[in-house]
Amino acid sequence: MDFTDLYINGEWRNGANGQRFDVLNPATEAPIASVASAEIADADAALDAAEAAMKDWAAQTPRQRSEVLRKAWELMTARLDHFAHLITLENGKAGVDAKGEATYAAEFFRWFAEEAVRADGMVTHAPASGARILVQHKPAGIAVLVTPWNYPAAMGTRKIAPALAAGCAVIVKPAAETPLTMLALMPLLAEAGVPPGLVNVLPTRSAGPLVDHMLHDPRVRVVSFTGSTAVGRKLLHAAADQVLKPAMELGGNAPLIVFEDADLEVAVEGAMLAKMRNLGEACTAANRIYVHEAVAEEFTRRFADRMAALKVGDGTDPSVDVGPLVNADTRDKVAAFVADAVSRGANIVVGGQVPEGKGYFYPPTVLTHVPETADCVHDEIFGPVAAIQTFVDQQDVIARANDTEYGLVAYVFSQDMKRALQVCERLDYGMVGLNRGLVSDPAAPFGGTKQSGLGREGGHEGMLEFMETQYISASW
Ligand code: NAP
Repeated sequence: MDFTDLYINGEWRNGANGQRFDVLNPATEAPIASVASAEIADADAALDAAEAAMKDWAAQTPRQRSEVLRKAWELMTARLDHFAHLITLENGKAGVDAKGEATYAAEFFRWFAEEAVRADGMVTHAPASGARILVQHKPAGIAVLVTPWNYPAAMGTRKIAPALAAGCAVIVKPAAETPLTMLALMPLLAEAGVPPGLVNVLPTRSAGPLVDHMLHDPRVRVVSFTGSTAVGRKLLHAAADQVLKPAMELGGNAPLIVFEDADLEVAVEGAMLAKMRNLGEACTAANRIYVHEAVAEEFTRRFADRMAALKVGDGTDPSVDVGPLVNADTRDKVAAFVADAVSRGANIVVGGQVPEGKGYFYPPTVLTHVPETADCVHDEIFGPVAAIQTFVDQQDVIARANDTEYGLVAYVFSQDMKRALQVCERLDYGMVGLNRGLVSDPAAPFGGTKQSGLGREGGHEGMLEFMETQYISASW
């Protein structure tokens, strides 16, 4: 593996105390790289580098920043297979998912190249005093970016691209399971024209103390986190000490509702995508599938046939649809959700058995008659298990869908647009997929309500997360 050291100020470094940790291939359980582990002294070096680099970067014109981001998109797009392969090696996901992620990740550079030149301000008259109100957006400051293992490339670029577009410098703390893709992106960014120190990457085995240290450095002004709600809460507490700007993309518990008037082919296709994209290891994964009783049997038969036909195996094999889960804990948690649901009366239609042998595999699984009391109805499954329940009443299913502390995404399938839009509006979610199993798009504001997070990534909103609004009251 080529890039396994810390990336600070455009240089590869071994880390202050020389400690390293192994990254495993989830399909074989074998180590694929030994990666440097950052300590406090490394974080300080990265902060110094970011501070120095940001001065010049923030002073560049939006067009100059835009051109660098555009180049990053071009370079990454030309190397999608390389990044997809790395993603599969360290995360396990199948080649098709990995290529999809690499493409999605690269698109954030293109989108924010286009947004960099659109930090619109405003000039208006104060109604009473007659003063002019000038509103403009300025780079907020150094941003600490903490990312999860489920999208090793995209969860990083979704933050790096808008931060750079806004004029900020960043320090990325990738997940310990999957630091290799983010490290491999650094030479590409340098080639695109990102100056040394503007983007620094600190893999570590000491995430808590390292991130906490950075969030208490007065030069840091933004913390952008994607990961579990539990860790997000901790970072919000830490961010309070310096009143940092927080952007939090946290957990989900997505309901997917199939009404009796849905086009079942569209609903099955959408459910496959919403459940099995990234083998269910996605905050957007359909966690609870509610199907109207009138179509439940037909939907379940068609959906289960599709799930049973998926080929499970090492994601580097191009014929494989579903790779392994990222680690043993995740696999065991998924198996425990199934055992719990079955013990409460659920039926296994497909899958449900941990296979023998190496690798953290779990088969695509369909459960029916899942009771409301089952753990998988309340917690993120984060694996290839579809938990199907039925309903008869629209008000009842909306209430059940909203009965969670999460509010990231919901999915609705119905051909009656009046009804469908009325239901969408009553769902307490930041995003809704209507007759679609995929909502993620760099051009759209991604994010949740309630305990799924704060702020939005992508769209026009994404860059504003890294900017401060300044208002000048002027007379002339
Ligand atoms: P996680 O355990 O919260 O870890 C996420 C990141 O936080 C990792 O880099 C981790 O480092 C770091 N971290 C852990 N403890 C920390 C601490 N005390 N202080 C600072 N950083 C800390 O989440 P995960 O298991 O990797 O990812 C799965 C979760 O992410 C799910 O809940 C999923 O829904 C959520 N997610 C949300 C979105 C969204 O956009 N809303 C997108 C993707 C995933 P280590 O790797 O070293 O532990």
